[in-house]
Amino acid sequence: KLSNRLQAILNRIPPGSRMADIGSDHALLPSAAVQAGVCLSAIAGEVNQGPYEAAQRQVRQEGLAGSISVRKGDGLQVLEPGEADVITIAGMGGSLIAAILNNGRDKLTGVSRLVLQPNVGEDILRKWLLAHGWVLVDECILEEDGKIYEVLTAVPEEGSESSNGMLYQEYTLDCGILLSADWLLRFGPILIKQPTAVFAEKWSSELRKTEGVLAMVEQSQLPTAEVKAKELKDHIHMIKEVLSCLR
Ligand code: SAM
Repeated sequence: KLSNRLQAILNRIPPGSRMADIGSDHALLPSAAVQAGVCLSAIAGEVNQGPYEAAQRQVRQEGLAGSISVRKGDGLQVLEPGEADVITIAGMGGSLIAAILNNGRDKLTGVSRLVLQPNVGEDILRKWLLAHGWVLVDECILEEDGKIYEVLTAVPEEGSESSNGMLYQEYTLDCGILLSADWLLRFGPILIKQPTAVFAEKWSSELRKTEGVLAMVEQSQLPTAEVKAKELKDHIHMIKEVLSCLR
């Protein structure tokens, strides 16, 4: 059975898509997509030999060699232009996902949807999407085995009903707190507007981490410590305000 995390990604792939899963490891996602009838065929890309072989093995074992093409290569380099209309990249840091998209910008023409699951650095990934004309149409947050995951779905802004201008416009929460574009990039412009218990849990944990970092910075003698401490205190203040809003 597919994990809830991978199932959440699968649920966001429109039926009939030609998907490419980059950094596919065991090719579990493309295998499930084809088996569920969501995709007729799929591509699994892997840069590392071990995971590449694991993907090949999985595809053979499931009898899917005719419908899933397992390819070895860096990021989107495994794709021919126009070959895929949905790209999934999951289980890596947001900055690595952004770098993969950025290095493969020429392969994104004709792609109508990105379904991305960064483990950390969601704000970096949102920033990349914003800067490159992709607009978020869905954000979901879920917890599995004590870990919290976000799944971001983006479409080309051109031709979409959504716009980044609207998404990242300063936003006032019901309790009166004003969120800047920078804070919307961190919280997620869609997630913050429909906060769930898991969202609150993620930000309680971020609060504890930030307080831990502040304690270390306050002990350090570095010349930049004061500036860094001020920034961390501002973050702590904002996260506390937002969390108290959600209660
Ligand atoms: N996507 C699967 C998932 O979410 O369960 C596997 C995630 S696994 C933690 C990350 C995979 O990405 C690894 O197998 C790694 O080899 C692969 N990877 C990392 N950088 C890559 C790149 N530039 N191009 C292709 N694959 C990459």
